[in-house]
Amino acid sequence: MVDYAKKAVAKYNAQRKAKGGIDTIYAFVLSDSGKIYDGACLESTIESAGVCAERLAIGNMILNETYKAKIISVVTFDPVPNEQEESSTPCGTCRHVIWENGSPNTTVICGQYIQRKNGWEFVPKMEKYTIKELYPKPYKMVKWN
Ligand SMILES: [Zn+2]
Repeated sequence: MVDYAKKAVAKYNAQRKAKGGIDTIYAFVLSDSGKIYDGACLESTIESAGVCAERLAIGNMILNETYKAKIISVVTFDPVPNEQEESSTPCGTCRHVIWENGSPNTTVICGQYIQRKNGWEFVPKMEKYTIKELYPKPYKMVKWN
């Protein structure tokens, strides 16, 4: 899964760079079918219109497999100017959507890649969590009758 994600980051960054794009956050979702779905951060000048890479990857999974699909694992890669003590973890909204479409044992693996003038490189260390660790008290809507 991480190897797949690294190859995909390299491919997408090369494609984006060739078209004048900038590096971005990527997310990859492994479904219980064994298929992997990719997502990249959607940026917008209207902040609330942007969508995180995690939720776009999950949307791709649901598009292809319906809501019956369950997330086994999520891998994220964040571009950084230099090695950070810890990689960024998914935002609160994404944690909720991962929890909703996964299980308590769904793993979230977070990595970083450093932008250099002549390319970029992966930071070797990555952090691994379960969604239960990242989102221990999930939001639940109160049911009235
Ligand atoms: Zn998010």
